[in-house]
Amino acid sequence: IAGFTAVELQQVVDDAYTKYKDLDEGKNADYIPILTETPSNLFGVVIATCDGQLFTAGDIDYKFSIQSVSKPFTAALIMKQQGPEAVYEKVGVEPTGLPFNSKMALEIYDDRSVNPLVNAGAIASVSLVEASDEERRWAKVLQNLNDFSGTNLEVLDKVYKSEYDTSWSNRGIANLLYNYGRLYCDPEEALRVYTKQCSVGVSAKDLGIMGATLANGGVNPLTNKEVLPAEHVPELLAIMATAGFYDESGEWMYSAGLPAKTGVGGGIVAVVPGKFAIAAFSPRLNEAGNSIKAMKAIRQISGELGVGVYGAN
Ligand code: GLU
Repeated sequence: IAGFTAVELQQVVDDAYTKYKDLDEGKNADYIPILTETPSNLFGVVIATCDGQLFTAGDIDYKFSIQSVSKPFTAALIMKQQGPEAVYEKVGVEPTGLPFNSKMALEIYDDRSVNPLVNAGAIASVSLVEASDEERRWAKVLQNLNDFSGTNLEVLDKVYKSEYDTSWSNRGIANLLYNYGRLYCDPEEALRVYTKQCSVGVSAKDLGIMGATLANGGVNPLTNKEVLPAEHVPELLAIMATAGFYDESGEWMYSAGLPAKTGVGGGIVAVVPGKFAIAAFSPRLNEAGNSIKAMKAIRQISGELGVGVYGAN
């Protein structure tokens, strides 16, 4: 498989799991109150290959909120509907070097929303989805995530409520974007759909398949459905490579060499183009909002297999 045997792939997954299982640095996200309730010791590691095989260890079926890992997939939906120019022109593709919820980025960059993987750009992305009303907008966003995962995903209602009830920062971002003409539907509608998108429950396995769909040129390996035309996959991976780890994106590319996306729910998915995805989940985060165990596990697997996109790290 992709130049490796099944035994080798299972071995690196097991090694990474064993090595980091007992690490207890960092803490659950707490600015969304309910995320503090996720058991902090959960940890799962998955390799999902382009032909749909899974190599797993740990808590790989536990459903946690996808949070920002959803963002590249909705950017993919815009690329598919409207072409990559729409993302470039109406959202932006520049890494901010600033935290994911930065309001300062909105003031210092001319394109305001900056890129689809920070909150501003992700809220702008959902506002771009072509839909006649909020229900249809949401249905399209969810269907797209379902297509990437090959399953029927569901919103974790408690997470949605907790996050929407405390969404003052994101509401500020949505209103600022609207003020600058960089939001393309009603701000509160965009905020609700964005927050629902972030509250979708996924397992590490689901994230693995979502990443494997990108690794497989946009075709879901379980359903064989083309979710993103292959010609747009490189643009999407480029955004993930430059902005997938918030303001730690440089350090991540430097040390792991893989386009990836993280979320404050504790999930991370990394893509090895043409081969497989590596996904991991663990709730404890570092200061930048990245899952410590998931990050270390994926970096270790990338290094052991020598699959960094610029050469073996
Ligand atoms: N829904 C979260 C927020 O808007 C996503 C943050 C993240 O995962 O980076 O704050």
